Amino acid sequence: MTFEPLSSDFYGFQNSLSDKEKEVIVALREYLEAEVRPLVNDHWARAAFPSQVVKGLADLGLFGMPWDETKTFENSAVFRGWVALELARVDASIATLVGMQNGLVMGSIGVGGSKEQREQWLPKLASGELLGCFGLTEPLSGSDSAQGLRTIATLVPGTDNPDGSTGPDSWILNGAKRWIGNGTIADIAIIWAKSAEDGQVKGFIVPTSTPGFTATKIENKQALRIVQNADIVLENVVVPEANRLQNANSFRETAAVLRLTRAEVAWAAVGNSIGAYEAAVGYSKERIQFGKPIGAHQLVQDLLVKSLGNITASLGVVIRVSEMLDEGTQKDEHASLAKAFTTARMRETVAWCRELFGGNGIVLDNDVIRHFADAEAIYSYEGTREMNTLIVGRAITGKAAFV
Ligand SMILES: Cc1cc2nc3c(=O)[nH]c(=O)nc-3n(C[C@H](O)[C@H](O)[C@H](O)COP(=O)(O)OP(=O)(O)OC[C@H]3O[C@@H](n4cnc5c(N)ncnc54)[C@H](O)[C@@H]3O)c2cc1C
Repeated sequence: MTFEPLSSDFYGFQNSLSDKEKEVIVALREYLEAEVRPLVNDHWARAAFPSQVVKGLADLGLFGMPWDETKTFENSAVFRGWVALELARVDASIATLVGMQNGLVMGSIGVGGSKEQREQWLPKLASGELLGCFGLTEPLSGSDSAQGLRTIATLVPGTDNPDGSTGPDSWILNGAKRWIGNGTIADIAIIWAKSAEDGQVKGFIVPTSTPGFTATKIENKQALRIVQNADIVLENVVVPEANRLQNANSFRETAAVLRLTRAEVAWAAVGNSIGAYEAAVGYSKERIQFGKPIGAHQLVQDLLVKSLGNITASLGVVIRVSEMLDEGTQKDEHASLAKAFTTARMRETVAWCRELFGGNGIVLDNDVIRHFADAEAIYSYEGTREMNTLIVGRAITGKAAFV
């Protein structure tokens, strides 16, 4: 396969990729078409997780990019965005899996971990030997997690040893988490909890086999069905001080992790729109009504053009917001505008593309309903449209309207 910009990339933004980056995209597309596309609708229907893709995605290097200290050109934020887009174009659940592993989980250890913790955990996460999950949201705290966490971490000072030395400190975690992606299949969980000592949010690396840690799959979810979201209960879970993220001392570090990934979710939203749009273009050429392909009817062309306009405008937004991250100028409000704008455009686009299929648009085999349903989860996670709007509103007016 040789590199071709996506036909949905109307202004040819992908022509700016380097030759090396184009090679990575070609390898990724080949893998997705051969190994992922054939299984997604079946797994989506059964709400099952195709565990075999973890190794394939890891072998492509997708779990390593943000924390590769060599900082080669393939791991710019813009390129990571294109990867998220290419993944979501085929399946948004698989894009979510990659975003959780390399962004939220590896990002937490990258931002909040010590050098020793990065060396201990990141290579195993990058290779796919370990799968992680990110536990911030709680049953009683979603949008207000900066101040509303109820999971408590209590410090247990190390006891004195017979030789006069003091044993290591540990922490006891108690509380509950909700919506945690990969929760039932992960080997480790990053758990964010409020310290009983200083009231600040701290992060912990918790092996999911630790006594007192239980994860129960959330059933009957109708979006991103391949992602295994869980309710997690933490009951007197003992975590050694060595597993507390040593450089995460307040919610500021949690927010830094979310900032890294929020713009990537905006890219995934564009990819999810593109998946629906490509399916719609294909159908517009095949389906005959009134003696000609439906794509020859004016109002059907209107649906396609409006969708392409949304995709093209959104691409401009996500490319620039990731360039800002690469330049070191991206702030919370920049990522928030990208997420709020592109997810709103995605919701319009997937609905227009679904409409173009008529009745066949609600049959899973035609893909478009999967992109339509998955859009609802992408719209709400990593900060709802309202919360991201309020973050931008605060930047414009200097007034925080959500506290
Ligand atoms: C598929 C999926 C995967 C997820 N994966 C993870 C994960 O891996 N880890 C994790 O920690 N979390 C995860 N989440 C949780 C996600 O981040 C939350 O759902 C999200 O932050 C919103 O919280 P909530 O659902 O509790 O909604 P709520 O906070 O209860 O909000 C309900 C509604 O009220 C609105 N609202 C709330 N406060 C205000 C306000 N001040 N002003 C205006 N409107 C407001 C919201 O915008 C929303 O429309 C996931 C969620 C989903 C759906």
